[in-house]
Amino acid sequence: MDRLAIVVPCYNEEEVLKICSEALRGVLCDLISKGKIASDSFVLFVNDGSKDRTWDLIEEEHALYPKMIKGVKLAGNVGHQFALTAGLITAKDMCDVSVSIDADLQDDVAVIEEMIDKFHEGKDIVYGVRKKRKTDTFFKRVTAQGFYRFMNVMGVKSVYNHADFRLMSKRALENFSEYKETNLFLRGIVPLIGYETDCVYYDRKERVAGESKYPLKKMLALAFNGISSFSVKPITMITTLGVVIIFLSLCAAVYALVSYFMGHVEPGWTSLILSIWFLGGVQLLSIGLIGQYVGKTYIEVKHRPRYNIEKILSD
Ligand code: UDP
Ligand code: MG
Repeated sequence: MDRLAIVVPCYNEEEVLKICSEALRGVLCDLISKGKIASDSFVLFVNDGSKDRTWDLIEEEHALYPKMIKGVKLAGNVGHQFALTAGLITAKDMCDVSVSIDADLQDDVAVIEEMIDKFHEGKDIVYGVRKKRKTDTFFKRVTAQGFYRFMNVMGVKSVYNHADFRLMSKRALENFSEYKETNLFLRGIVPLIGYETDCVYYDRKERVAGESKYPLKKMLALAFNGISSFSVKPITMITTLGVVIIFLSLCAAVYALVSYFMGHVEPGWTSLILSIWFLGGVQLLSIGLIGQYVGKTYIEVKHRPRYNIEKILSD
């Protein structure tokens, strides 16, 4: 029987922690009684340097349900992505399959069962995908949608409307732990792992209590981090811009020369305007070219795994 670990990053979540713990314990008990997961499955709370009573509450819950509720206390606040990573890497050696979910219960815990079913069908990664965003504010909806589009244009492939609510098998976690990069963008890395994947759909709810720990500032930082740690496309764009401007300068050259021979220009204008455009283009192109090498170096230093072997048939 497979041992499930539900990993929950928590930052200043004292209002929701008990509710969350109760809901997840309910899910575990239900799945255990249905014989879908092992009886020693557990919830792993990761306290991301909370300033309130979150950790005390996790300790209380652990004292009450020592087998079912476990906790990891990070020494300081490292942010959602790293807190979740810490939890997943810790859980890796203790479980056969993991599900990550936010503490605020915005994601529907009822679909965890569906995820487990898909896991039993042989899927290694199952993404929780939001159907609609009607409970989010208009602002959050627009910014979040813009975020996915922009990321895609910038060359970071991620699953649309999927946050960090997902199931990962032990072997997916093992491959994930090979990604040693510091600038970590989980939603971009998970699709690189490979294996068979699937999605489950749910309606995203309001936060049970407390407020969002992801203000616009953190969201922009996440977007920028995602792009800059995944793709060198911005550099390529500079190179392209350089080429375009050089081409435009050639068109401008024709125009300027014609004007010059028609005789109605100020002296010096033709050579000035041509130099400005042409040199501008050449400079951009050169920066882009240097950028390509910097970009390559950047990709190299990440030391990402180059492949992930699923099966070997021999002898
Ligand atoms: N979180 C965290 N560290 C942080 C910020 C948030 O561990 O620095 C956790 C938070 O406790 C929650 C999850 O990340 O479990 C998602 O945060 P939130 O619900 O505030 O984001 P939103 O749903 O508004 O995007
Ligand atoms: Mg939330």
